[in-house]
Amino acid sequence: MRDAERNEFAETIFWGGDIITVDDANPTAEALAVANGKIVAVGDREQVLEFKGPATETIDLQGKTLMPGLVEPHSHPVISALLYDWIDVSGFTNASGAEVIEKLKQAAERAKPGEWIAAFGYDPILIRDLKALSADLLDEISRRNPIFIMIQSMHTVYVNHLALEIAGITDDSPQPEGGIFVKDKSGRLTGMIIEQAAIASVMMPILLESQAKGFDLIERQIQRYAKAGYTTVGAMGVFPVFLNWQNILRELVERDDCPIRMTIVEKATDLEQGITVDLGSASDRLRSGGAKFWYDGSFGTGNVYLDKPYLNSRLMQQGLGIPENTSGYPTMSKQKLKELVRKYHDQGRQIVIHGQGDRAIRDMIDVYEAVLAESPRQDHRHRIEHGGLFPIDQMERAARLGLTASWHVDYIYYYGEALRDEIIGSERARISYPVGAAEKRGLLNSLHNDSPMYPVEPFRLIQTAVTRKTRNGETIGEEQALSVDEAIKAVTINAAWQLFLEDKVGSLQVGKLADMVVLSENPRKIEPDRLDQIRVIETYRDGRRFRFQ
Ligand SMILES: [Zn+2]
Repeated sequence: MRDAERNEFAETIFWGGDIITVDDANPTAEALAVANGKIVAVGDREQVLEFKGPATETIDLQGKTLMPGLVEPHSHPVISALLYDWIDVSGFTNASGAEVIEKLKQAAERAKPGEWIAAFGYDPILIRDLKALSADLLDEISRRNPIFIMIQSMHTVYVNHLALEIAGITDDSPQPEGGIFVKDKSGRLTGMIIEQAAIASVMMPILLESQAKGFDLIERQIQRYAKAGYTTVGAMGVFPVFLNWQNILRELVERDDCPIRMTIVEKATDLEQGITVDLGSASDRLRSGGAKFWYDGSFGTGNVYLDKPYLNSRLMQQGLGIPENTSGYPTMSKQKLKELVRKYHDQGRQIVIHGQGDRAIRDMIDVYEAVLAESPRQDHRHRIEHGGLFPIDQMERAARLGLTASWHVDYIYYYGEALRDEIIGSERARISYPVGAAEKRGLLNSLHNDSPMYPVEPFRLIQTAVTRKTRNGETIGEEQALSVDEAIKAVTINAAWQLFLEDKVGSLQVGKLADMVVLSENPRKIEPDRLDQIRVIETYRDGRRFRFQ
């Protein structure tokens, strides 16, 4: 019998498969009912069937698994949309250096004189016969077309001389704050450019060219998230914010047939120039806030800020063009970081800082601690992103301060052996991306793909966090593994919490939005090594269905 106060029937009732709720009080359920885009019942089949009315659609899961729609806490939808339109030279899809160089040569032959040749994913770590590039080497591919090649980690690009000329960068150009136009010993530009502050000046003409295709490109990226099972995406900045990308995002995300919702964290570099993301009527579907900083860089660029130097190796010096005996460096002084964090903290924003090195992360926690002591604030949810060598002895302090971490465990899957043998050595690799330690010490953790840094593959994240296996099957630091349930939380409720959406999405509970995903298999039951084989059958956003199989 229906309760007197229960005045609505469900539009849809799901049953007939496993239901993972990600609600600790009731981790599994037999059935779930949805009305008006919200979950109105979840639990025993009989109890949920009380919501069945004459018009209710009953969906038999036929043994498939229903769980909360996945939440990507850190991604770059605009830059992904752009880069996936470029020539793909990545180690995810190319097997050899010869293949990559041939692709570039063919592009140069096809291109009209003056047309840009832009490529993404150059990766001497995964493709061993690739070398650090230079303007001289790229001139051999073309002198009549500007060439722009971004490495997989996105913190370095290589350009030819024509590209430097078009961008107006000469041997005498000043170095931009936070970026480097690399020069050789005689003061000549090498064609290697490091960090966004410097990269942006060369990239601008390419971005302007792709404006016309913007709508289609972003739509494709939204589909990539949805097909992977994501229903919520945290976008770290809208790049480049001065073009009309935010309007495109707004138009696409607020459309009724958009399968995802999005939260945009604004880039501090934009905020510093007085540029904010203006979304007009911010809704449940699209909102903005926060402030995102970079304090160090990536292993592949040599600017992860470390306590002890990187290894010297053929890969580091010849492959990646990184000087010997370096310990990396931060993008700004600790004092400057503190000023900026204080400023945006005092504006009531959530702070999100890219931190990979042990030295970088310790500095960041110092800064957070100092700012919070001067200007206490409850429920700030300030974040530490990626966590390459998060010092384990700093985790309890971080947890006490209310900080939260989001992890790049894909690095272990794709680059684990190189990290161990050629970049930082086995002792540090064993405690790289130490999510297990963080979980035990009370940090709230999420996992992210950071597209376009890695493909949009949430079940790969879960698999790597659980198995700590590389793509060649080697295990690195198994003490740092998460349980499957912990990893599931890291791509659902924890990620939702980091985006201030935990009361709306991230678990299947009465009153929450009906954002859900139907999977071919149950991640809690499948063999851990097969987690990445799980297929997304369909997703629901606010109860609306999107089919993918
Ligand atoms: Zn990122």
